[in-house]
Amino acid sequence: MVAAMDQSSRPAGIVTRFAPSPTGLLHLGHAFSALVAHGRARAAGGRFLVRIEDIDPGRCRPDFEAAILADLAWLGLDWDGPVRRQSAHLDDYRDALARLDGLGLLYPCFCTRRDIQDEVARAGHAPHGPDGVLYPGTCRRLGAAERRERMDSGAPYALRLDVAAAVALAGPLGWRDEEAGVVAATPEIFGDVVLARKDVPTSYHLAVTVDDALQDVTLVTRGADLFAATHVHRLLQALLELPVPAYAHHRLLTDPSGRRYAKRDRALTLAALREAGRSPGEVRTMAGF
Ligand code: GLU
Repeated sequence: MVAAMDQSSRPAGIVTRFAPSPTGLLHLGHAFSALVAHGRARAAGGRFLVRIEDIDPGRCRPDFEAAILADLAWLGLDWDGPVRRQSAHLDDYRDALARLDGLGLLYPCFCTRRDIQDEVARAGHAPHGPDGVLYPGTCRRLGAAERRERMDSGAPYALRLDVAAAVALAGPLGWRDEEAGVVAATPEIFGDVVLARKDVPTSYHLAVTVDDALQDVTLVTRGADLFAATHVHRLLQALLELPVPAYAHHRLLTDPSGRRYAKRDRALTLAALREAGRSPGEVRTMAGF
């Protein structure tokens, strides 16, 4: 059985968002995604939001952010309210972590990538999830004294979710996806996900879930490549008592040879197409609109 999805406290009307990471220029695949979100909101007289997912200081750049916003405006996409920039809201993610910690569901993980590889090699088997090899749980098994000692020593650590304990606490969960119908959530397929990185006090999963709730997003539209992530997001919503949006994971736009557009496709960035003299209307058509 799937837990009820209470939306009674939500404001009326549909709210969608486009949430790019400013790690490169927008390409046709992004344009498709932004047009889907914008179109769904406008068709229903709702709100369309833009959120800049810039929690990774090593990869995100202000010039990419400026270019993204300029590209969206050039394409004719208007958004409602101010752009939310995740790096300006780290306190919101800290609050969420404190709440999860209060539930006893987080633990510090001191492992390096190498430690994890070694542990997996020692175990002789390597269960995989949607993001690759599952974390083998090394630091979940540390005793309280050792944990404290290592934290006090200043060793860098991430915070991981004890997913088995979290699932046990939350009970059965599901969400409604426009393509897939009602989906039973199985967040354990990801293992103990990182919710705060060693270098950044949050993670994609945590920031996106908290923001969608704080921004009253009612319909999450995004590419099918993020479908599996929703298993984790649904669990976090339950643990943090956040409302549950509807989801529409759309197909990924591909080039004529069937390959997904990616940051490497320089010629198909919106900036390059604009420079080559394409009009916004032509680019919309190329993106399938
Ligand atoms: N920031 C993510 C990306 O650029 C999208 C996040 C989402 O839509 O949930 O792929």
